[in-house]
Amino acid sequence: MTRRFLAGIELGGTWCRCVAGTGPGDIRAEEEVPTRDPQSTLAALARILERWQSALGELAALGLASFGPMDLRRDSPGYGRLGATPKSGWPGIDLRGFFARRFAVPIGLTTDVIGAALAEGRWGAARGLADYAYVTVGTGVGVGLIAGGKAVLGCHHPELGHIRVARSPSDQWRGSCPFHQDCVEGLVSGPAIESRTGSRPADIPPDSAVWDAVAHTLTQLAHVLVLAAGPCRIVMGGGVMDGQPHLFPRIRRGLERSIAGYLDLEELTGGVDRYIVRPALGTHAGRLGGLAVAAEAESSRSAAPG
Ligand code: ADP
Ligand code: ZN
Repeated sequence: MTRRFLAGIELGGTWCRCVAGTGPGDIRAEEEVPTRDPQSTLAALARILERWQSALGELAALGLASFGPMDLRRDSPGYGRLGATPKSGWPGIDLRGFFARRFAVPIGLTTDVIGAALAEGRWGAARGLADYAYVTVGTGVGVGLIAGGKAVLGCHHPELGHIRVARSPSDQWRGSCPFHQDCVEGLVSGPAIESRTGSRPADIPPDSAVWDAVAHTLTQLAHVLVLAAGPCRIVMGGGVMDGQPHLFPRIRRGLERSIAGYLDLEELTGGVDRYIVRPALGTHAGRLGGLAVAAEAESSRSAAPG
């Protein structure tokens, strides 16, 4: 057995999850640390990697999949730094630099949702596809959009969870996003549903009218994705989708109605039931995100000339 291994770190709002291995079939170690102030959290993560280097062998590459916003422009002086995250102490932290100073290996860096998208593409429900989207509906709403095998990145990483979509005429709720009120996240994140209903989303029965509104909004998000980027599959995960499987048929039928024959979805997608799907990695997509980013960093280094 090879002694080389990849390490992935998913930096989340409450926990940072570290994984060593080469993929879901070869996980050699896993550890978690609570996300506290950046100094103690990053030091704890570095100690885990150092321990793994002594115990497991040669670290071949490191992947970081983090909460954002984050500067992902490779030519920017701020590459790898966190932006204006509401997490106290973290804005401006040079995430990539911290690890690059301690570990002389290729380091890949991306957002948590793009990391999960890459993991689903490498090992999960979007395997073999170069164009697809991964949507998470949980504490927030995020979209990892992959086009031509690469995450779509502009002068900042797209934040499709915050787009405004057509509201259902029967739904006037104002929404809960502090920036945009009734953007997608402001309407369908777990906390949005909770603030709208006063109930924990897990306790709301499937026949509640709130799920009609949630399905409508997510249908509209899917409509935008289909027309903006032509993904060959849309993978939908996160705590809300995971806990409310009845949303899937509603969104699939809703998408057919919304596209209204403008595209032949049946022909383009092989049928909408195979088009809007659950993640194959289940709740592991997030923690495997860092590993997928590490795998990408390693292969891009071996592909680089010279
Ligand atoms: P995060 O987005 O923080 O990574 P999750 O994807 O696990 O975390 O999503 C957490 C959200 O999912 C919470 O807002 C919670 O209310 C919601 N949630 C958890 N279980 C259910 C369920 N059974 N039905 C609907 N929503 C749920
Ligand atoms: Zn918003």
